[in-house]
Amino acid sequence: MANTSQSKPPVEAGTHGQVGIEKAHKLGFCFGVRRAIRIIESAAREHKGIVTLGPIVHNQLVVARLAEMGVKVIEGLDQVQHETIAIPSHGIPPQLQTQIEARQLRVIDTTCPIVRSAQEAARKLGEDGFCVIVFGDAHHPEVKGLLGWAGTNVLAAMDASEVANLSLPHRVGILAQTTQSYLGFIEFVSRVITILWPRVRELRIINTLCQETLKRQQAALELAERSELMIVVGGRNSANTRRLAEACSPIVETHLIETAAEIDTHWLAGKKHVGITAGASTPDEAIEEVMLKLESLAGGDYNL
Ligand code: SF4
Repeated sequence: MANTSQSKPPVEAGTHGQVGIEKAHKLGFCFGVRRAIRIIESAAREHKGIVTLGPIVHNQLVVARLAEMGVKVIEGLDQVQHETIAIPSHGIPPQLQTQIEARQLRVIDTTCPIVRSAQEAARKLGEDGFCVIVFGDAHHPEVKGLLGWAGTNVLAAMDASEVANLSLPHRVGILAQTTQSYLGFIEFVSRVITILWPRVRELRIINTLCQETLKRQQAALELAERSELMIVVGGRNSANTRRLAEACSPIVETHLIETAAEIDTHWLAGKKHVGITAGASTPDEAIEEVMLKLESLAGGDYNL
């Protein structure tokens, strides 16, 4: 994830020793993640033995903290031995929802309202007879959910060339995994239009991108432009965290870390301005821990 090929003009040192350390003006927990954690913590105080279908959000620190409250992660319904199951913030497909209902489990639904609205858009496209293309990672739980809601004539792709050889119907709908980059979605849509245009009669594009993600991407890019090093804090299994690192990487040396312990002092050598951003599922404590470590390194005898 590191790009060291581009040199940056020197930047004014900040207040932390020789090194300016600056947080992006928008970073960390989004409202959807805060909401999901609030719901599950409040449920955990009321009910014992809650299980979540996959991690409630993609961050190990959050999952570990919930585990201390008795909330356990399971990977499939066959592992359910409790009465209460929580649906994670990135949602599930309707087929899974039906299976949960058939088992008469108590359900705590933490699906983010933005994801819910993308699911609704997918469902409507499918019901209106569109073949639905989801711009996203086919293995990500949110995308699996969107595909499920869209019906049977569906495809998830990150590369527009994947649609080239498909025999698609005349009506095609395109939407995005909520945490994809807006530039990536624009490029994907443009290429799909170029590929499909002679064959398709009706093309419907729904912008399902999350504004929270967009704001974090824009703030990270602005900061990367004036930094000599970017540290992205968050889970490696978090799509939006990885996207932040991918966006900054072509601009400046960038490292994705989950905890402060992963900071390598060599990264800071000769750097005068370090930028920090964090994914939407990264807790405030993890960001503060990274800030404190960088400040202590900047003030220490590390020849920075
Ligand atoms: S990043 Fe957006 S879609 Fe994802 S949980 Fe947060 S608010 Fe919801």
